[in-house]
Amino acid sequence: MDWVSIFIYDTTWSFAAEIVIRTTFMFCLVILLLRSTGKRGIRQLSIFELTIILSLGSIAGDPMFTEDLPLIQAVLIMGLVLLLYRLCTWFTTKHKLFELLLEGDPTYIVENGLLIMKDVEKGRMSHDEFFTEMRQQGVRHLGQVEVGLLETDGEFSVLLFPHDETQYGLPIFPKEFQAAKVLEDGHPYACMHCGYVQCISALNEVCNRCLHSRGWAKALNNKIVN
Ligand SMILES: [Zn+2]
Repeated sequence: MDWVSIFIYDTTWSFAAEIVIRTTFMFCLVILLLRSTGKRGIRQLSIFELTIILSLGSIAGDPMFTEDLPLIQAVLIMGLVLLLYRLCTWFTTKHKLFELLLEGDPTYIVENGLLIMKDVEKGRMSHDEFFTEMRQQGVRHLGQVEVGLLETDGEFSVLLFPHDETQYGLPIFPKEFQAAKVLEDGHPYACMHCGYVQCISALNEVCNRCLHSRGWAKALNNKIVN
């Protein structure tokens, strides 16, 4: 194995100096470009924004070390990407349909303490993922949640019931999200598939709402603690 070839190959001191200039230039260009998108830092990206970042990354990298790639081409391409980005965001403010196409629409995950099944079954999100999100917001069971919404940037918005409207709901902490082994008379149980709460007479009873029998967890009605 030729270590010199792996690490140095035909790199000359003058090309090394060129790399310094190229990299500094592209670095500044990327900052300039990201600043001019008008965004203030990034927590979550929509698919559309992620596309921009990915294309920028690949456009920015090559000119840093490719000898026969003049920087002006990179400036041109990045200018064009910025222009397209601006054009798209302008269009999205004008046309709702275009926005839907680029960003998708927010998805209801929980409504009135119940899981909205059509998106769960489409496999857009797993129980686990949004239980995690809700736990991080201090939620113990679904009876505390009026609305759980998955935003287009992947963020999760939760609207809680006021204390006096908290209902019985499906627990979402692992030790409580367990199929009951014994049936307590008169206590409400929550369907582990859809969150529906009912009084059951057998542990293998079919859920009235989703028609599954994935087990019943003892429902909770604790108030949310802030
Ligand atoms: Zn159910």
